[in-house]
Amino acid sequence: MNGADLKTRLAACLPELRGRLQPEAPLKDFTWFRAGGPAEILYSPADEADLAYFLQKTPAGLPVTIIGLGSNLLVRDGGIEGVVIRLGRGFGEIKIEDGHRLRVGAAVPDVKVARAAADAGISGLSFYRGIPGCVGGALRMNGGAHGRETKEVLVEARAVDRTGDVHVLPVAELHYAYRQCGAPEDFIFTEALFQGEPGEPAAILAEMDGIAAYREEAQPIKSRTGGSTFKNPPGQKAWQLIDAAGCRGLTVGDAKVSEMHCNFLINEGNASGAELEELGETVRARVKQTSGVELEWEIKRLGVPG
Ligand SMILES: Cc1cc2nc3c(=O)[nH]c(=O)nc-3n(C[C@H](O)[C@H](O)[C@H](O)COP(=O)(O)OP(=O)(O)OC[C@H]3O[C@@H](n4cnc5c(N)ncnc54)[C@H](O)[C@@H]3O)c2cc1C
Repeated sequence: MNGADLKTRLAACLPELRGRLQPEAPLKDFTWFRAGGPAEILYSPADEADLAYFLQKTPAGLPVTIIGLGSNLLVRDGGIEGVVIRLGRGFGEIKIEDGHRLRVGAAVPDVKVARAAADAGISGLSFYRGIPGCVGGALRMNGGAHGRETKEVLVEARAVDRTGDVHVLPVAELHYAYRQCGAPEDFIFTEALFQGEPGEPAAILAEMDGIAAYREEAQPIKSRTGGSTFKNPPGQKAWQLIDAAGCRGLTVGDAKVSEMHCNFLINEGNASGAELEELGETVRARVKQTSGVELEWEIKRLGVPG
């Protein structure tokens, strides 16, 4: 089936849908790598109720994939079958609550969480200044930096499952580990409640500036990249293993291992999803050969080959 036919079928079974369905939407535009194929359908829900309605009324066999700001994604060149969901404005609210808490929609960029916390004199969330995703991605990836991670600042998260039921999950039920969340794969996060501590806005903003300056110096943040490609193996640094395997600067087509930070892959021009994935697999094979360590992808690879 092509995207236009699927859109017609979906529209027929979803008369009350308020969100937007876009057939054959290029996902290149929504990933940091700027590579990969289209979504058969891209659905932008109007709000949580619209999302729940969509999930309730569509057949269970229809594949559904949720994406955030695409800063941890490698989309393959054949694109993603079925429906790709991207949350927008209806999930963009930030509310400051009593007790140094922030209730934040899943589409809010992490950097805005850090800024809102700073403005409200809430410390402990500055690490989000350096993570270029949104809250939904941070909840799924247990995003973390500078010695803190999402699970340490999260009170609870709201999510909608594949049948459209809404769940409120205390952090303990999300079974977090390093860059990993134990919530069922079909859960789409819609909101998070974060806990901070009292702080001085000026001091928090200064800490955030320090984080931004460090990032600029140490990471190729202005390049088309997916951030850290592989998880750090226990007790080791992925970049050191990659460097020791001689992979710094390695290329496949327009895909390159960053010279600045060799756990980052970069699209230097028109790299395809296949080139980026082949480069990553080459790095994994060389690291295995030289150190015996099997690196695990941190970047999520989605879709089908071209
Ligand atoms: C320059 C750069 C620096 C980075 N530095 C860091 C860092 O310091 N620390 C760190 O942890 N990460 C870092 N990353 C990786 C990335 O920013 C994080 O993993 C981020 O949390 C991903 O968020 P996203 O919104 O971009 O999610 P996406 O990349 O779009 O998706 C990532 C995963 O989250 C899932 N997901 C997205 N939204 C939802 C939702 N609403 N509900 C359920 N699942 C969802 C997707 O299905 C996918 O599995 C970096 C990336 C870049 C490009």
